[in-house]
Amino acid sequence: MVPVIALVGRPNVGKSTLFNRLTRSRDALVADFPGLTRDRHYGDGRIGDKPYLVIDTGGFEPIRTEGIVKEMTGQAQLAITESDVVLFLVDGRAGLTPQDQRIAQNLRESGKKTYLVVNKAEGLTETAKAEFYELALGEPYTISAAHGEGVKALMDLVLEPF
Ligand code: GDP
Ligand code: MG
Repeated sequence: MVPVIALVGRPNVGKSTLFNRLTRSRDALVADFPGLTRDRHYGDGRIGDKPYLVIDTGGFEPIRTEGIVKEMTGQAQLAITESDVVLFLVDGRAGLTPQDQRIAQNLRESGKKTYLVVNKAEGLTETAKAEFYELALGEPYTISAAHGEGVKALMDLVLEPF
């Protein structure tokens, strides 16, 4: 089984940068995976002998319906539903935000296997990740999507069960 990995997080945390690093061809292979919706941003990749599919969930702009701020678009929710694993990205330079908190709550409620990924961590000390324990999503993993640091180690962990 090829795992489907959804990249989730508020705007500007580096989802698309990570997507580009993890994928070699975009929107490929989707036809080979019955059940995947075609109107999202898919890519495929492989580390060692382990192939995977990645979804860049894009828009997490809050939308206001009947006074309720919904943090996730329907698209993002669907991406989570059809994924096996979620990589929840936060910004290690900006620090923890209320929007991160609300997305984290959604993810905890979803019950989906979630890895908490602290991006933009190049040059930051380990203490930069300390505040993210508060999200109650377990150990934060520091990476730099832009520079590639920590990405292989993270993916080895994510792909291990598959
Ligand atoms: P998205 O909105 O979550 O898809 O975020 P993008 O991938 O578009 O990245 C938003 C901004 O953060 C861009 O200017 C990226 O160059 C920058 N960025 C992404 N990853 C890193 C990183 O690892 N380190 C730093 N310093 N900047 C990054
Ligand atoms: Mg993006």
